[in-house]
Amino acid sequence: MTEAIVHHPTDETLAAFASGTLDQARGLVVLMHLSLCAACSRKVGRFEAIGGELLEQAASVSMEPGALRNVLRLIEDNPSAPETRLNEPLDHYQLGPWRWVGPGVRQRSVSVPEVSNIKVFMLKAAPGTRLPHHRHDGYEWTCVLEGAFEHQFGRYGPGDFDEADETMEHKPTVCAGDPCVCIVALEGNIVLQSRLGRILQPLFRL
Ligand SMILES: [Zn+2]
Repeated sequence: MTEAIVHHPTDETLAAFASGTLDQARGLVVLMHLSLCAACSRKVGRFEAIGGELLEQAASVSMEPGALRNVLRLIEDNPSAPETRLNEPLDHYQLGPWRWVGPGVRQRSVSVPEVSNIKVFMLKAAPGTRLPHHRHDGYEWTCVLEGAFEHQFGRYGPGDFDEADETMEHKPTVCAGDPCVCIVALEGNIVLQSRLGRILQPLFRL
């Protein structure tokens, strides 16, 4: 049984994805959501259909060519079960080993070339883990792959997409049950708010 996806990328984000103007890092996190969310995939398809001209005008097209087309084709081939393809977008990337970065938290790198100070990694956190209270220098886009976390804006389970920017402060807690595995595109640095967080900061290497 899969839980219903509650949190989706904004239409602006889906349109940017469709027009190829998202950087590869954020594009991959959106792609992970699309591989789970037929509704957003259809929206992207519509944006793409009306956005052909936009694509030609786009100043930078850094998303892997054909990635969207491949996902859309897969969804067309099998519209009822997008969740079976969850990890497929990651097949194109090398994943580093899981490294301990703090109590109950592990991190692994995803080999997306770092552009404009945006990097991609996966996080795995044990149930009940309270991640340090933090705010952002820039974007932090997250797609949940397994398990769930919650913060003041709700509960985020598999497929849910969390689009945070520098105006938001976060205090996520991993929900009971399974470990929470996420893929994250992070711009700039995370600024930890607590004294313990500042002590842990070097461990996160963020
Ligand atoms: Zn969606």
